[in-house]
Amino acid sequence: MPSGAPRQSPMPAPQAEARPEELRTELAERIRRDGPLPVDRFMRLCLDHPVHGYWRKPDSIGARGDFVTAPEISQVFGELIGLWCALMWEGMGRPAPLRLVELGPGRGTLMRDALRAGRTLPMFLPHASVHLVEVSSPMRRLQREALLSGKGGQACAARLEWHETFDEVPVGPAIVIANEFLDALPIRQLVYRGQAWHERVVGLGPHGGFRFEVGGVVDFQSEAPPSDGAIVELRAGEEELLRALARRTAPHVALIIDYGPAAEAFGDTLQAVRRHAYADPLAEPGAADLTAHVNFAALARKVRAAGLVADGPVPQAQFLGRLGIIERTARLMAVNPARAGEIEAATHRLMSPAGMGQLFKAMAVRSPALPSPPPFG
Ligand code: SAH
Repeated sequence: MPSGAPRQSPMPAPQAEARPEELRTELAERIRRDGPLPVDRFMRLCLDHPVHGYWRKPDSIGARGDFVTAPEISQVFGELIGLWCALMWEGMGRPAPLRLVELGPGRGTLMRDALRAGRTLPMFLPHASVHLVEVSSPMRRLQREALLSGKGGQACAARLEWHETFDEVPVGPAIVIANEFLDALPIRQLVYRGQAWHERVVGLGPHGGFRFEVGGVVDFQSEAPPSDGAIVELRAGEEELLRALARRTAPHVALIIDYGPAAEAFGDTLQAVRRHAYADPLAEPGAADLTAHVNFAALARKVRAAGLVADGPVPQAQFLGRLGIIERTARLMAVNPARAGEIEAATHRLMSPAGMGQLFKAMAVRSPALPSPPPFG
């Protein structure tokens, strides 16, 4: 059982049956042919397989899908991030053009709400071009609908661009948003056995089912002394993203919001979620969302190594609280009295320690020339 608390609360919902058989057969054949797969290879194939990968599945996010995220819970989340972006733009000296980038924008809800709120600062959006970094074609379709049909899209419709990778975003000053993006990038797992670190791999059991196994010895030094059976998780996608950020010579700041611990931690946090409930990560490849904690202590070390500066992490409740979520929620309730209870409950879910307030963290990553951004500084 993964050690992470759910990033999504159970909420049964109807959904068409996924068909994981094809991917299961392909992975099993590959393991028989080439041997067990390291966890990152397995995770990547489950998520990103060109035909059967999870990100090819429409409707993964939302009440009718597998999981919900903060922007899907409350419009206030994206609005506050939009205001944060506008504040950043001012703090950067109002650069034009500005690249407003979102990594893994899901259904496009966060960006839609952020753009609506961003319009309250005159001149901000007219100077921005919006860049959505997204690998999934069903998600791109949803993003197009959210951003080109709603009011938020009208402000920027002419300057919306989609990219496969962050490196494709044109040069220039940039504000980057990544909500629940890093947790979806594959992790390697190393397991400490007999005084040595080994690759954790996925092999085939006697009845043909997938199972975790201990693979070959790996040269690795952990931050803290491990005990037998300890597991560390390594996410190369974080270094790749930070290197890509560091290559940008123009000023830039990235807001990373994700779930995971602020301190160094050992442990298996790989989790599968399907239809708003935990699932076995090995049971139905391609049919369940697979994620793992972001270790913010490790991320901060990588930020420094890339020559960038990290502010935070702070718990999501603190980040949203300092940006004025309570006041904004109260205003929204006042203008929508019929929905007041629902609006309040949604904010509570984002803020409460039992919901997303404590497990989720916000961290800003910036070029060293920029001042520490609010509400971190
Ligand atoms: N940020 C959104 C969605 C989070 S789910 C929200 O808060 O609701 C993760 C998103 O990242 C999905 O849109 C998924 O398709 C996308 N994604 C996953 N791996 C990716 C990658 N390597 N590059 C770009 N997008 C990716």
